[in-house]
Amino acid sequence: MTRTVYVNGEYLPEDQAKVSIFDRGFLMADGVYEVTSVLDGKLVDFDGHAVRLQRSLDELHMAAPISKEDLLAVHRELLRLNDVTEGMVYLQITRGAPDDRDFVFPDAETTPATVVLFTQNKPGLANSPEAKSGMKIISIEDMRWGRRDIKTVQLLYPSMGKMMAKKAGADDAWMVQDGYVTEGTSNNAYIVKGNKIITRALSNDILHGITRAAVLRYAQEAQMEVEERNFTIDEAKEADEAFITSASTFVMPVVEIDGVSLGEGVPGRVAPRLREIYLDESRKAAV
Ligand code: PLP
Repeated sequence: MTRTVYVNGEYLPEDQAKVSIFDRGFLMADGVYEVTSVLDGKLVDFDGHAVRLQRSLDELHMAAPISKEDLLAVHRELLRLNDVTEGMVYLQITRGAPDDRDFVFPDAETTPATVVLFTQNKPGLANSPEAKSGMKIISIEDMRWGRRDIKTVQLLYPSMGKMMAKKAGADDAWMVQDGYVTEGTSNNAYIVKGNKIITRALSNDILHGITRAAVLRYAQEAQMEVEERNFTIDEAKEADEAFITSASTFVMPVVEIDGVSLGEGVPGRVAPRLREIYLDESRKAAV
């Protein structure tokens, strides 16, 4: 089945959807994005993603080209047209396509933003075998720019990090800055020591994960202790457990860091429990 995608107000077959070669997303990575997961044909935490999108746009001085209500309608229409019950919706907004390449921002009056959305059908996403076996990660230096709190499409370094992990026989990389773990290539990073969940505090150094916010809330509601502070890779290697969170992986246990097995080398008690709670609550609240 050919996927139907959304480009600037139109629903089109994916092979007919086009964006200009002068689009600033293409030439300058001048764009922001969101990925919203889909469970039971519904959107998980759409509100959270809409709020973060607005913040990303504000930080880059871009006007929102579409209202939150219309955005929700487009998400839902794409799910319907593509018959998606489990998977993701990808949304990207760029500063549009001026007449020529120029470092100066184009006038928003004459250069409308480019809005693109498409679905990714992933049956079995919630039942991923990786959640049972756990992930292996390596550590790499964090060489990204200083505004990682803005969800921009500058994903070259995270993509290179993922390739470094694959080459090393691992699943993902955690990035380290000044000796402390920032986050994973496309996820937030956590360790567990005793009954305590430890994760880096929010700042410009990491993306403010929508899944992170929900998981920390559920953890506290379940009487687990949460400590938001820096941790090193050495501390992580000695942790009882570790895990990541993101919209597309939910909560995923980590069982190995730089070749060192955590605990018994299999998912522990906390990460699988949090995954279960997160999936249950997300299904209930999905729209
Ligand atoms: N950190 C980074 C660098 C990411 O790219 C992502 C998701 O893409 C996350 C964290 C997790 O964010 P969310 O839970 O909103 O998907």
